[in-house]
Amino acid sequence: MDTSSNRVIVAGAGPVGLCLSLALAQAGVRVCLVEALGADNFLEQVPRAGTNHPATLELFERIGLYQKLEPRGIVAPLFHYWDRRENELIAEFDHAHLKDDTRFPYVLQCERIKIVEEALALAKAHPDIELRLATTFTGFTQGADGVTAQVTDSAGETESLPGSYLVSAEGARSIVRKELGIEFEGFTYPDRTLNIEVAYNFRRHGYTERNYISDPEEWSNLFHWKGPPDRWRVHFPTAPEEDEAALTRPDALQARLQRFLPTGQDFDIVGSNLYVVHQRVATKFRGGRAILAGDSAHVNSPIGAMGMNSGVHDAFNLADKLIKILRGEAAEDVLDRYERQRRHVALQHTQAQTIRNKRLLAEKDPAVRKKNHDELRRTAEDPALARAFLLRTSLIESLREAERIA
Ligand SMILES: Cc1cc2nc3c(=O)[nH]c(=O)nc-3n(C[C@H](O)[C@H](O)[C@H](O)COP(=O)(O)OP(=O)(O)OC[C@H]3O[C@@H](n4cnc5c(N)ncnc54)[C@H](O)[C@@H]3O)c2cc1C
Repeated sequence: MDTSSNRVIVAGAGPVGLCLSLALAQAGVRVCLVEALGADNFLEQVPRAGTNHPATLELFERIGLYQKLEPRGIVAPLFHYWDRRENELIAEFDHAHLKDDTRFPYVLQCERIKIVEEALALAKAHPDIELRLATTFTGFTQGADGVTAQVTDSAGETESLPGSYLVSAEGARSIVRKELGIEFEGFTYPDRTLNIEVAYNFRRHGYTERNYISDPEEWSNLFHWKGPPDRWRVHFPTAPEEDEAALTRPDALQARLQRFLPTGQDFDIVGSNLYVVHQRVATKFRGGRAILAGDSAHVNSPIGAMGMNSGVHDAFNLADKLIKILRGEAAEDVLDRYERQRRHVALQHTQAQTIRNKRLLAEKDPAVRKKNHDELRRTAEDPALARAFLLRTSLIESLREAERIA
């Protein structure tokens, strides 16, 4: 039997490509998953996402991934808003308000690298996933009945892989998006974000596992990132003209942390990096049989932890539709609904909320700051308002809204 005609080619084994491949394969759809990194360097990726929202945990559970991640992560029902100027806790939100909305009334702090490590192990063990590590996707062609992906292996050998559909899960630099001529509409923030990883227990100062800290001069985020041993991450904005080497010098990092929390004792700094933040959404999520998902379709600021989460939501939405098409239960135009649903979420939820989050933390006008903080206090104190707020921040509302899109 020719299995290549109805298999799906997935480019990129990040969280999105892996979740999509597992959801397809577990429903009996054959997948060829192509990943540029090899077995020797797959785990050497720069630290990125770490917060997994309740709706994402439900989807992870569906493919047997949650069960692997929970023992390796930190269950975090609470998050805080702080005013750094006043050194005051403004509001505490408790996911327990979502106990009737989800089986997981908490986020799981579990880094992207652990997610892809566990998901890759599941993919390797699945007989319907042909995994091509150390293989770079370089381009594709498509016709009325299928696609052909071009790949190059580590020895420089090129190969053409036929399939019925091609999913671009190769991240923000998506070759598929570029070859389809799809614009990545949006903007890039001029300031870069400095991430410092610290071995220190910030809970002793009243912080919880996730903290959003407003300050007109230097907003920040503070997360319990992993443990044991305990590792926390602090994010700070930096001016566009500042030199990267100067920003990440050990004494400069130490001085910044001491300004943030003057303990009088040197922090044990484990690492640091500087990253550029984009807010961009592709104008189309599909060109014929080639479909974009995750960072290849949308990128946003990490404030609010929505990039990977919404990418994983893309993956499951798309998997359900491809399964129906390949079983002959739906026409190809359901893929247009995928685009309508997930583009709406990317623009109206992920992008809108992360832009708002940054504005809230960086606000300089004292009157607006006071109004924002009063509103956060009121919201956290009222159970109905708190639930509505958490439905938005946890992306549950985005999924419910997408379901209502025809
Ligand atoms: C500092 C930081 C913190 C973040 N924190 C959060 C958070 O807490 N929560 C959250 O939801 N999101 C967060 N994000 C965003 C999140 O990391 C991304 O949205 C997510 O990783 C996107 O997943 P993806 O699978 O679409 O793409 P990626 O994670 O970029 O994976 C793409 C994969 O494709 C492979 N690839 C690339 N090109 C090719 C090619 N040509 N051929 C074959 N393979 C290829 C890559 O090697 C990689 O394995 C954060 C981002 C940053 C920068």
